[in-house]
Amino acid sequence: MAIAASLRGTVASVNLGAIQSNVRRLLQVIGPDVALMAVVKADGYGHGALPVAQAALAAGARWLGVAMAEEGIELREAGVQAPILVLGPNNREQLAAAIRYRLDVVVYSPESLEWVIEAAQEVDREARVHLKLDTGMGRIGIPAAGLDEAWLERLSHPRIVWQGLMSHLADADQDDPASSREQLKRFLDAVEWLRQKRGSLPPWLHLANSAATLRWPGMHFNLVRVGIALYGIDPLPGEWGLRPALSWYSRIAMIKAVEPGTSQGYGRTYRARTAERWATIPVGYADGYLRGLSNQAAVLIGGYRCPVIGRVSMDQLVVRLPEALDAHVGDRVTLLGDDGEERLTANHLAEWAGTIGYEIVTRIGTRVPREYLEDR
Ligand SMILES: *Cc1c(COP(=O)(O)O)cnc(C)c1O
Repeated sequence: MAIAASLRGTVASVNLGAIQSNVRRLLQVIGPDVALMAVVKADGYGHGALPVAQAALAAGARWLGVAMAEEGIELREAGVQAPILVLGPNNREQLAAAIRYRLDVVVYSPESLEWVIEAAQEVDREARVHLKLDTGMGRIGIPAAGLDEAWLERLSHPRIVWQGLMSHLADADQDDPASSREQLKRFLDAVEWLRQKRGSLPPWLHLANSAATLRWPGMHFNLVRVGIALYGIDPLPGEWGLRPALSWYSRIAMIKAVEPGTSQGYGRTYRARTAERWATIPVGYADGYLRGLSNQAAVLIGGYRCPVIGRVSMDQLVVRLPEALDAHVGDRVTLLGDDGEERLTANHLAEWAGTIGYEIVTRIGTRVPREYLEDR
């Protein structure tokens, strides 16, 4: 962007030192025999894929994960050499582009394998593939029990380098581990069948996302795919030693004193009970501050929690100032992050909006410039 990031006064500040500290923490959890894939899909969960990828690799991550070919190609074009796995369903054109850029791809259906083979022939390259088993997620992947000799035959095509066998958990962040255990069992059965039939396994076996990586060492195999924990957002209740990487700041645009009974915003969903002071913040749902946060959330100003009152509109929101707070136009507003003793996490906002921390950070819009710090 040609316009200085600071012009707007609203910024998402990403601490790459926190990302690196989280990588080191996760490496401690998995130990030296397991590799870490830093999942940087959706522009690094809204944090910026390239800076996060570079920081994570420098701290010891060995793989990168993206959802689609275009995301991997962007990293390659920026000079990233590390192995990159394209995790999601991609169409024939995307798979061909992925193979051209030396991205590993997921084979998740008979068609996807045909496309990969055709594409590999077309671009005259070998295709590095990871076979995805559906062990209970019900999304992409061949049924785990459907791994048979016909698949081994198809995967022995000369253009195919069989790099990995993988699956994905539906319930790793839930209290009840039963369904994840069942998924693990199906995955292990397929691994065992493969060992017997083929006499060898592909080099990489992987099942765990962030939650499973933190809580179940038995699911690490030799590669874990970590997204949300990398960004310091706890995937599970508990103390995991992760540091939130993203803070979101703005500035007070206007302060007004209002009479009791004054209404705020569209639909007049909030009315002042007493004489109050309100501050308008120039951030709205078009920036990714979800409309579901209306009358639910709080922001931090001068170390105080200030409740969001009335509806969040497209470009503005309004908060009530506590009596004790001496606030001025231009003062810093923390939408996400620390101010004094107070902290607002993506999980706090998620709870207020009835969603998950993943959605809070991935929805922060392109209108909010990202700035990068090396450490706090
Ligand atoms: C996004 C994704 C992950 C990362 O999940 P987190 O919960 O963010 O750690 C892992 N595996 C696959 C297949 C994914 O799509």
